[in-house]
Amino acid sequence: MITSKTQKIGILGWPLGHSLSPIMHNAAFKSLHLDYVYIPLPVHPENLAQAVAGLKAMEFTGVNVTIPHKVEIMSYLDEIDFSAQLVGAVNTVVIKDGKSIGYNTDAQGFVQSILSNGIKITEQTAVILGAGGAARAVACGLFQHGIKKIIIGARNLEKAQQFVKLFSTNVDIQAYDWEDFGFKNLLQECDILINSTPIGMSVHDTEVLRIPWEILNPEAAVCDLIYNPSKTQLLLSAKKHGHIAINGLGMLIEQGALAFELWTGEQGPRQIMSDALTEYL
Ligand code: NAP
Repeated sequence: MITSKTQKIGILGWPLGHSLSPIMHNAAFKSLHLDYVYIPLPVHPENLAQAVAGLKAMEFTGVNVTIPHKVEIMSYLDEIDFSAQLVGAVNTVVIKDGKSIGYNTDAQGFVQSILSNGIKITEQTAVILGAGGAARAVACGLFQHGIKKIIIGARNLEKAQQFVKLFSTNVDIQAYDWEDFGFKNLLQECDILINSTPIGMSVHDTEVLRIPWEILNPEAAVCDLIYNPSKTQLLLSAKKHGHIAINGLGMLIEQGALAFELWTGEQGPRQIMSDALTEYL
């Protein structure tokens, strides 16, 4: 039952049609008998500053932040934790003693999800398709866990090059236009291929990622950050070609469980969260 004592958490994004976070978190609060509620909060980009001020005024405990606010929100928060400074984006906010603090749990969420699938990161080479916010979280997480080299392939070379410049010069990260033959050839040395573009989400279902499967290292694990649908065209093709195929559900659960811990101080009940999502999907 929601009362005046119930602690309020939400998710800020625009639009919010794709988000499964309310399902996952409300199931988690219920299972641990925590007096919290998780509410979708669709906020148009031009209203973001007022929305953040409103969260404090209405004594929210925290929020998740999704597309397109993850970077923009940083200028409206009181503090940015190291996890978010590193990634350059916030996906979780905690409001404590009147102060808003931004965190990023996506990087750790991705890493945990692939480690739990038995994928080795240390000394490996990863190829990331796309150069947006999620790609940056993935790259940061991989570097923190000892990846040897990251190759970024994007439709826009300039954006991929800007992306690479955000990283320190002592890490091995290279940018390519993904149509470039040189990029396709590099797939031979790829141990982990990650799609961080929205191609494969149902709203983008007229487009497909063109992977030269004959070039890709046959041992490479293929990950899609997309979780809805749970089996994207990329993952179906990867399986057909004998690769381990991992969708974005594990990352969603891990980043969510870490955010849950920041808000409540309790361990996120990953199995409950997973069951709620699986049932829904
Ligand atoms: P973003 O910041 O908007 O970046 C998207 C990237 O994909 C950009 O590099 C963009 O290129 C590229 N892209 C977009 N449409 C494209 C197209 N039609 N063809 C080629 N490239 C295209 O978004 P994001 O936050 O990184 O999210 C990316 C994906 O990851 C989404 O599907 C999101 O749902 C998923 N995600 C999943 C989780 C999880 O927990 N599983 C967490 C975060 C994100 P341009 O710059 O050229 O537009």
